[in-house]
Amino acid sequence: MGIIVQKYGGSSVANPDRIKRVAQRVVKRKQKGDQVVAVVSALGDTTDELIELSRKVTDNPPKREYDMLVSTGEQVSVALLAMAINELGESVISLTGSQVGIITDDLHSKAQILEINPTRLEKELSENKIVVVAGFQGVTINNDITTLGRGGSDTTAVALATKLDAEVCEIYTDVDGIYTADPQIVKSASKLNEVSYDEMLELAHLGAQVLQPRSVEFAKHYGIKLAVRSSFNYKPGTYVKEVGALEKKKVVTGVACNTDEVKISLIGVPDRPGIAYQIFEALADANINVDMIIQNVHRGEVNDITFTIDEEDLNETRELLDELQTNLVIKNIVYDSDVAKVSIVGAGMVTNPGVAANMFEALGREDINIEMISTSEIKVSCLINKSSADEAVKSIHNIFDLSDVEEISDEVV
Ligand code: ASP
Ligand code: MG
Repeated sequence: MGIIVQKYGGSSVANPDRIKRVAQRVVKRKQKGDQVVAVVSALGDTTDELIELSRKVTDNPPKREYDMLVSTGEQVSVALLAMAINELGESVISLTGSQVGIITDDLHSKAQILEINPTRLEKELSENKIVVVAGFQGVTINNDITTLGRGGSDTTAVALATKLDAEVCEIYTDVDGIYTADPQIVKSASKLNEVSYDEMLELAHLGAQVLQPRSVEFAKHYGIKLAVRSSFNYKPGTYVKEVGALEKKKVVTGVACNTDEVKISLIGVPDRPGIAYQIFEALADANINVDMIIQNVHRGEVNDITFTIDEEDLNETRELLDELQTNLVIKNIVYDSDVAKVSIVGAGMVTNPGVAANMFEALGREDINIEMISTSEIKVSCLINKSSADEAVKSIHNIFDLSDVEEISDEVV
């Protein structure tokens, strides 16, 4: 008998019928002989609605109070799922992040898990109960409620799977798994049977909404096998695990697109050692992630530095840069939200030259201009105009022939 951690996202528990369906699924798994911990997100779009609600009161909620508010969504869903499971005759208990012993730092709204004290969880499991856990939330050592960043229930699930030494951590969502591209953009996109942790990490960072990037880092670090599956059928989904580059049949695994980045150009930055450090150190101190960076060197005494950030960090970044502009004497700062980052990801890329050129060819064919490029061993990203994003994804998917990946479709509980 093993321990299985399952995580059900908002769409899987969006209404009472779906909650009942998830309850049946959890019970089926329990009756197969496994111990089941089910981590749940808030119902449907509840978290978005709670954030909207706070905006009607203030533009600037104190982050502690923000956490106090948005964490309530998961408290509703755990209670309802536990009721539905109870209705099916299984013994069950719901627990909040605090009750399950998830201790975090005090970085409200983006807290990191410091430790998990599983005493209560283990006690309930040893009494043969199904345990339903509120995802996305934890508690500081001072007993303040924190949340783990948007999509944080994934991280709750993987962290619990690690602590309990679970056989697998199953992430249930409303799609059948990880695809070669967003099927809403590319009709012929195919579902992948498996991806490596590194590929998944890139895909998650690049805008595949299915998994929170931090949860993948966690899983990779502790070697927890993930299965991304649909809660609407019993298909096996996509396994995320260690996969060697040699086992890869295709050089490129998938195409991703992120339209939530902002391009910032610092025009006329004094050309002297230490300047880039001062700019990016200030952003790092504020916990603002910088993605692509390029510097254009001029012949005079100034450079232009262009970089991208997440749209959600825009206000904070503006404030910081306004200050730096005066202190460092930067001529001008230009913000551009009308951009999209399209990327190809694949562990097979390292050993295959010419992959980037193929991608540029696909963009060239559609007359799409490339504004910035960045590469790593397993990805190439291009920043382009937002209006061309879908065309770009289709053209790239086509040039790398990603429509005919073989699917395994035997059903499993
Ligand atoms: N309910 C939270 C969110 O919408 C956490 C999650 O879904 O994982 O971000
Ligand atoms: Mg989610």
